[in-house]
Amino acid sequence: LTDPGAAQRAYELDRKHVFHSWSAQDTLDPMVISAAEGSHVWDGEGNKYLDFSSQLVNTNIGHQHPAVVAAIAAQAAKLCTIAPSYVNDARSEAARLIAERTPGELDRIFFTNGGADANEHAVRMARLHTGRHKVLSAYRSYHGGTHLAVNITGDPRRWASDHASTGTIHFFPPYLYRTAFHAATEAEEAQRALEHLEQLIEFEGPSSIAAIMLESIPGTAGIYVPPAGYMQGVRELCTKHGIVFIADEVMAGFGRTGKWFAVEHFDVVPDLLTFAKGVNSGYVPLGGVAINPEIAATFGTRAYPGGLTYSGHPLATAAAVATINAMEREGIVQHAERVGTDVIGPALAGFVERHRSVGEVRGLGVFWAIELVRNRVTREPLAPYGSSSPEMNQLVTACKSRGLIPFANFNRIHVVPPCNISVEDARAGLAIVDEVLDLADTFAE
Ligand code: PMP
Repeated sequence: LTDPGAAQRAYELDRKHVFHSWSAQDTLDPMVISAAEGSHVWDGEGNKYLDFSSQLVNTNIGHQHPAVVAAIAAQAAKLCTIAPSYVNDARSEAARLIAERTPGELDRIFFTNGGADANEHAVRMARLHTGRHKVLSAYRSYHGGTHLAVNITGDPRRWASDHASTGTIHFFPPYLYRTAFHAATEAEEAQRALEHLEQLIEFEGPSSIAAIMLESIPGTAGIYVPPAGYMQGVRELCTKHGIVFIADEVMAGFGRTGKWFAVEHFDVVPDLLTFAKGVNSGYVPLGGVAINPEIAATFGTRAYPGGLTYSGHPLATAAAVATINAMEREGIVQHAERVGTDVIGPALAGFVERHRSVGEVRGLGVFWAIELVRNRVTREPLAPYGSSSPEMNQLVTACKSRGLIPFANFNRIHVVPPCNISVEDARAGLAIVDEVLDLADTFAE
């Protein structure tokens, strides 16, 4: 399966020529991935690992799914390149499949190359639709690495690039474990977070606010599920003040939470919904904005001033068609929901009982976070907000040495396998995480 010589050469060329994202280049020792299948990947020496990190690219239907690989090959043989102003069947069909799955009447699809540019375009649409300019978004969020998207981002990835934020304003989202509102219950947290947002809108001036952008369930910022009533409350505030509600489903969308879109858990229909990653399981870069009829109508006779060369690229949209059809055929969304309810949720509840380093666990579907602390009473995190720590690095190494690729961020280890992971593999991965938490316990008081 693997060729150690080729892997070594790839590593050397990478270290010489590849400039990596979000990293100090000289400190890196990246792993070579030479092959993948389903929920597993292989490194350059042929060692096999279980992929418990798949929220990042959202390989929701697993690696190398034969139907998607075949669809990409078939499309490549038929038509690879076409200017976005022409019709192509892969793009038309992908737009239909997406529109039919998004909630409400979000049935016009603007395709982008990924998540950040989907969010940029959603904001542009909201600004032109409302004639207003400000965008409100939550601390503890991530919306992308391009200029505006990183300004809208609420987590520390914004700090280094935040020198020219144009009308982006942040608010505290509900997050009971580290409440900004001195709340004692989820209900109190939801209510006070809504009051905070309402005041912010009042003080900023509703007539200057184009949009509120929220991840329906924030991903890399910590998988904190909004408490009951919060998202409905945001929806009501947007409707009341004529603000466009943009749901960022780039990470949570397309099955990961056990529904097609995470916003469905809250019975809320946004005005714009952005997606990427899971739309074609990350096989070919693709993102987009699903647009409601009112906003689409703004650009009925007036031109939409924006576009991308690869908007709805045939290879990417053919992969989306194959992914969505495979998800339906194989019941993958329902499977993700069951694995969360029957396997991951109960296992993580057990970790809270057994491991003193576990402050809180939270999530649903195949979208879970374990928040690690040094002390359960003070809730001091195992790594400071915005960075890692030697202890967290040791935990990541311990996972890898046991054959599991984790997703770790600050003081959290996420449990985020592909949506179609087998129950057996999910249990095997959780057993490894359990062992690694024994090591985490040695760092906690
Ligand atoms: N929004 C969310 C919620 C994301 O998780 C990400 C990527 N991690 C993005 C936007 C940006 O997507 P991309 O990297 O495809 O630009």
